[in-house]
Amino acid sequence: MEPLVAKIIYGVGYWIANFAIRARHIKVRQQIRVRSNQTTGLDTSLFFTVGIGGFLVPLLYMFTRLLSFADYLIPLWIGVIGVVILAAGDWLFWKSHKDLGANWSPILEIREGHTLITAGIYARIRHPMYASLWLLVLAQAMILPNYVAGFSGLVPFAILYFQRVGKEERMMLQEFGSEYEQYRTRTGRLLPKFR
Ligand code: SAH
Repeated sequence: MEPLVAKIIYGVGYWIANFAIRARHIKVRQQIRVRSNQTTGLDTSLFFTVGIGGFLVPLLYMFTRLLSFADYLIPLWIGVIGVVILAAGDWLFWKSHKDLGANWSPILEIREGHTLITAGIYARIRHPMYASLWLLVLAQAMILPNYVAGFSGLVPFAILYFQRVGKEERMMLQEFGSEYEQYRTRTGRLLPKFR
């Protein structure tokens, strides 16, 4: 795939996820009080690193020559599969935000009036938003033909995911008890569980 086409496609896909979809949820979140915050310094720093790796580094790649030393060629078929994964990631990102509603947060916290969501996409998957982020960072690596800009989202997100998901489930278990325990048995973490 032409680097210019790759840059445009990734830019549009990223814009849809983070500006068209997430911006609205950030506003809603600011209006709801936090009841319990269980985030750690490591978790917050990783969250910002994912932002830098998914947005600022690709921006440098798109608009400057600073990262040209790491350019390489990606076969067209990999790029095309990457575009399909990007579209699927954007859809799942939208759907999980819609279903999680006002319970969404970029960090580990319980909000005032927090409810356990077990419907919609959450009926089969416990972490569809993280699944969508896996798709988006994977697409970034498959679309952008540059070792730095391609992998700058995937590496920090992998670390963020593995250090966070267990903590998040323990927090939800503490908050919702047996309701969450039952919910956990009938859902998959990232892939849907069908009974
Ligand atoms: N891990 C989920 C949600 C990510 S947003 C996903 O990948 O889709 C992170 C916040 O969502 C956490 O701070 C937690 O408070 C909240 N959360 C996670 N699962 C939830 C659920 N099933 N219902 C309500 N809130 C949930």
